[in-house]
Amino acid sequence: MAFTMQDTLTQLEYIELDKQRLWHPYTSMSAPTPHYLVEHASECEITLANGQTLIDGMSSWWSVIHGYNHPTINAALKSQIDDFSHVMFGGFTHKPAIDLANKLVSMTPEPLQRVFFSDSGSVSVEVALKMAIQYWHSQGQPNKQFFATPKSGYHGDTFAAMSVCDPENGMHNLFNGAVTEQYFVSPPPTGIEKPVKEEYIDEIRQLFIEKGQTIAGFIIEPVVQNAGGMRFYNPDYLNRIRALCDEFNILLIFDEIATGFGRTGKLFATNHSAICPDIMCVGKALTGGYITLAATLTTDKVALGISDKGGVFMHGPTFMGNPLACAAANASLSLLANYDLEKRIGQIEQWMTKALADCIELEQVADVRCFGAIGVVELTSAVNQHEIQPKFVEQGVWVRPFGKLIYLMPPYIISESQIETLGRAIYQVIRNEIPIN
Ligand SMILES: *Cc1c(COP(=O)(O)O)cnc(C)c1O
Repeated sequence: MAFTMQDTLTQLEYIELDKQRLWHPYTSMSAPTPHYLVEHASECEITLANGQTLIDGMSSWWSVIHGYNHPTINAALKSQIDDFSHVMFGGFTHKPAIDLANKLVSMTPEPLQRVFFSDSGSVSVEVALKMAIQYWHSQGQPNKQFFATPKSGYHGDTFAAMSVCDPENGMHNLFNGAVTEQYFVSPPPTGIEKPVKEEYIDEIRQLFIEKGQTIAGFIIEPVVQNAGGMRFYNPDYLNRIRALCDEFNILLIFDEIATGFGRTGKLFATNHSAICPDIMCVGKALTGGYITLAATLTTDKVALGISDKGGVFMHGPTFMGNPLACAAANASLSLLANYDLEKRIGQIEQWMTKALADCIELEQVADVRCFGAIGVVELTSAVNQHEIQPKFVEQGVWVRPFGKLIYLMPPYIISESQIETLGRAIYQVIRNEIPIN
């Protein structure tokens, strides 16, 4: 086929070309799920090229916390573009990155003092794991190269991140042999207020007794396991893990990529517990969902430990500390500072609890639960995403289920009536489109 560039294609031609050329996340190239052409987005609404407007229940994978097209973040980006869009971070530094690192340190628990910027959540997890290994190497314990983690976790799609994702709903089977075998323990028992049974702690203690000499870190999503099952658990579990990690010389790594920046009603999910991790990853909502950026924060102990005997941390992405991304993040964090977060997220939790309550009466539904600005309807069996997605679009909402889970993670600016519409759509689609099994 000759290479041609057409100036104008029709909407349908664009969608057809998309099918021929583009990979979308987790989709078949031969039988792709439908993809909708977006023309515009503002606040909590996404407008398609065909003119249809959808209420957004997803915050574009939990990142667009202030809504789309926010004037403050738009202005920050435009202003930074006129200064410079990028310079290498080796040998240069700039105010957007310095300001952002300083903000992150002041927002997070006090022991976290040092910041490494990277391009995406998965990479920030790679960086966290490398930091842990390098730290123990510098302390004369080069055998500590493995990680322990609960099942049902999700930490990203790159190789080391994959190795600590849930071994069943992660991709371990497919990449068996290519992915490092790590140590898995039972997922934390669900229930924010349910006391944690001793057997869960004993299991981890036993693992640490047997394998602690080879374990560099314990990695976990604090309080909410997200893509691995939308599971909420008691923050006291984290307090107990912290004590075990201290006892066995294992670094504690929190992956706050999904929970960070207010999603659970506190600035970080860590704040529901009494403790602080040694290393913490943030991403997703960091730039208000504008541009990809992530950060790995750590303590003086870890950072200086790595460097004390002349060591340097071995990582340096090309676009490290990208000024545009930092400018967007600085603007997003200043917007976040204006929220009464607990009140706002508490309100969203109440509205979602009400809007999703009726779903529990449906036979297809196993559980309905809300925590912070996360609302979950768990079905008795997995949905066919290919068939269900268009039904939500017909209802005028953007909700993207996966597996047994239909969930909402809306922008923080969403209104009560928009949440009611999302709730009604979920109820209708389950009732009318999902077979009872
Ligand atoms: C999304 C996510 C990641 C991966 O982030 P990417 O930016 O998609 O690479 C890692 N951990 C958690 C908890 C996430 O939700």
